[in-house]
Amino acid sequence: MNIDLLAIAAHPDDVELACAGTMLMNKRAGKRTGILDFTRGELSTRGTLETRARETEAATKILQLDYRANLEMPDANIELSQENLRKVIVQIRKTRPTILLAPSREERHPDHEAAAELARRAAFYAGLVKIETKDEAGNPQEPHRPLLLLHYLQGHHVESTIIVDITPVFEERMKAVDAYASQFDGNRMPGDDLSNRKRETVLSQPGFVDGIRARAAYYGRRIGTRYAEPFWSPEPLGTRDVFSLVTKTIA
Ligand SMILES: [Zn+2]
Repeated sequence: MNIDLLAIAAHPDDVELACAGTMLMNKRAGKRTGILDFTRGELSTRGTLETRARETEAATKILQLDYRANLEMPDANIELSQENLRKVIVQIRKTRPTILLAPSREERHPDHEAAAELARRAAFYAGLVKIETKDEAGNPQEPHRPLLLLHYLQGHHVESTIIVDITPVFEERMKAVDAYASQFDGNRMPGDDLSNRKRETVLSQPGFVDGIRARAAYYGRRIGTRYAEPFWSPEPLGTRDVFSLVTKTIA
């Protein structure tokens, strides 16, 4: 299996909220895209496990993902353990991404930080030939190391290394956010526990979805487009085509 762009998430909806536009832009460009969720988000304040699963399925369709898997690590308890590291290495070797997206290293939610660190370590160790792993069918896996690791922005601000224009897919990108209706204010999915609905979270506050639009518009403005998504890279980024760096239409 070859997935060109694999995004790692601590919780289902993390990628949709943070960088769904980049996923869609690459899908449109003919790349194969996937999301690897570490947990099922079972400790979410709002929404049941069933509604969350349905929402993830809907978002997967909107993003036209070629691959989505869940490692079923315990929510709010993602550990930097050998067992978890191995699970991520197996997935990287299975999907063989060229570019890996991961949460930022410094984040409000400790699960995001843990997922970022697991992603970083697994991306490196997956390339070591002497670390032996087997796929689900028990066959030995070939080593593979993604060529580029980019960290997407969630709760905490990180200075961006590169900003990706997502203007052509912006409305579709927002549909992937809307798919997670149970998490937002004023939305109720059938079967939801009413008492659960009263629990407010960062996401359920009025203005959270507005914030996603505003952030995209802000980063778009910084590169001279309508909407964009920022990423941070620990290494400098190169290009063979300096003209691909021109996103402004007016200087
Ligand atoms: Zn999250």
